[in-house]
Amino acid sequence: MAFVLKHVAKSYQDGESQRWVLRDFSFDFTQYQSVCIAGPSGSGKSTLLSLLCGLLKPDAGSIHFNHSDHLLELDQASTKQLREFRRDYVGFVYQFFNLIPTLTALENVLLPLQLADKREQQARATERLHTLGLGDRLDAFPEELSGGEQQRVAVARAFAHAPSVILADEPTGNLDQQNAREVIDLLWRESNAVQATLIVASHDEQVQSRSERVLRLA
Ligand code: ADP
Ligand code: MG
Repeated sequence: MAFVLKHVAKSYQDGESQRWVLRDFSFDFTQYQSVCIAGPSGSGKSTLLSLLCGLLKPDAGSIHFNHSDHLLELDQASTKQLREFRRDYVGFVYQFFNLIPTLTALENVLLPLQLADKREQQARATERLHTLGLGDRLDAFPEELSGGEQQRVAVARAFAHAPSVILADEPTGNLDQQNAREVIDLLWRESNAVQATLIVASHDEQVQSRSERVLRLA
């Protein structure tokens, strides 16, 4: 997997003035299995993740994604291309888990998989939840799960469609130390297993020390 950013700039309009978040930002994610995007609150970590999945377009510069023979110029791509890119290649993990409250743990994991063979996927999702120690929680709704359990379901969901890149935004930000460690272990184990690149925005020391490369935003 290759993400290559060249001379990327991104600003937000702030009333009359323009607030620059990234300026002439270049980085090549190729060759890294895991990258932590670190930096204080407001430094642009979430903005960078949104640029990487095409939810935001840069004001200037290029963002290219390359996987096997698939090349996508995210800064040029159409809404439809970006939607397909996210569906096929990207898994997301958020700080506040973002599980669908009206769906059970199992149904949440099945969510990215609605299209193909349902029965096989149900078996696989069930097995995956078992390996995460959630085998007896398949039919529980998010509000019946602890924060740590919800985040483990969210990680299972993020990996369900075998993405080639995982984007995680402060995945341990709402967890205690013990649950944070479990979720970090899980993210690294799962991404190694499927050879997915892990890109984690976080100021968690544990995340930074596990990452092959730490990218600090000012
Ligand atoms: P981080 O994730 O590191 O906390 P963000 O990427 O969320 O940083 O935000 C970077 C800066 O951009 C902050 O100053 C924030 O206020 C500003 N910002 C983020 N999103 C918007 C938006 N939609 N409109 C205006 N300003 C924004
Ligand atoms: Mg953020």
